[in-house]
Amino acid sequence: NAQMANSKYEYTRTFETPHPLLPNTYIILRIDGRSFSTFSQTHNFRKPNDPRALSLMNAAASRTLQALPDIPIAYGVSDEFSFLLPRRCTLFDRREDKLISTLVSTFTGWYVFLWPRHFSPEEEPLRAPPSFDCRAVCYPSRGNVRDYFAWRQVDAHVNNLYNTAFWALVLKGGVGRREAEEELRGTFARDKNELLFSRFGINYNDEEAMYKKGSVVFRDYGVVEEDQEKGGEEEEEETTAVPEVKSKTQKEKEKKRAKKAKIVTEHVDIINDEFWEKRPWLLE
Ligand code: ATP
Ligand code: ATP
Ligand code: MG
Ligand code: MG
Ligand code: MG
Ligand code: MG
Ligand code: MG
Repeated sequence: NAQMANSKYEYTRTFETPHPLLPNTYIILRIDGRSFSTFSQTHNFRKPNDPRALSLMNAAASRTLQALPDIPIAYGVSDEFSFLLPRRCTLFDRREDKLISTLVSTFTGWYVFLWPRHFSPEEEPLRAPPSFDCRAVCYPSRGNVRDYFAWRQVDAHVNNLYNTAFWALVLKGGVGRREAEEELRGTFARDKNELLFSRFGINYNDEEAMYKKGSVVFRDYGVVEEDQEKGGEEEEEETTAVPEVKSKTQKEKEKKRAKKAKIVTEHVDIINDEFWEKRPWLLE
């Protein structure tokens, strides 16, 4: 601001310590609801999975992708969402504080704003302000990014199987919470599947995909046929010692294209290659 320049107080700006994130690396920003165990009780979230709460998280994530066109994909489960920024992203000059604070407040703003569309305002008004934390982590390779998302999705599966069994025992089996916890301690996946089926007639495979797989929110430019994109992709990772500098017009063009693309939400496997191979732009 021109009026503010050159005052004798301006030197205080030199105390700022910007922290730009490592160039030429993917950035993943993960938000997580603060004390959502309590927040979910306050708002009577259904156990183990409240579909209203999940659809609200997905809607807030979708609006966040709209607001920040650099983000190609995000993955969410429970009270968390992970947002990917491309290797060559230059948003806010990659400053960590700007990226984290803008992302988490954009998401939180939308979460609050959209609440009444997902929870009936009469039955379940917002009774307390939700807040989220956020961290940024740099990943140097596509493989690391793939493994990161696989980690979150495996975590989602393990937690959901446990929670489904736990709440079946408590809500349908009339078992106390402590007893249920004891009964599940040390059990393997097949034991929980067996317990669900034999005691409650629940086939875990028939559970909602949103609960089992979490939610993938991404820009959809259509899919690329597998043989079309194979070959060139592998080489590319090796030839990027110097980050590619894009012209301003090129960046503007990409931004326009990203803004026009449909943002979709799917509950699909992102551990195997298929999802990523069909959408190579997600890991550019
Ligand atoms: P950036 O995203 O870079 O911060 P910005 O548009 O928010 O961009 P700022 O330098 O933060 O730019 O300036 C905030 C602007 O918001 C002010 O220039 C002013 O136009 C407007 N503004 C903020 N608060 C008020 C207010 N209370 N009344 C009128 N205008 C306001
Ligand atoms: P922290 O502040 O450390 O993150 P937290 O209480 O949020 O604490 P988390 O490990 O993030 O702990 O767990 C989030 C909790 O929120 C879950 O354990 C679950 O009880 C609840 N929760 C989140 N989303 C839903 C949902 N859709 N349906 C039911 N419960 C949910
Ligand atoms: Mg300002
Ligand atoms: Mg936590
Ligand atoms: Mg939390
Ligand atoms: Mg959490
Ligand atoms: Mg401002």
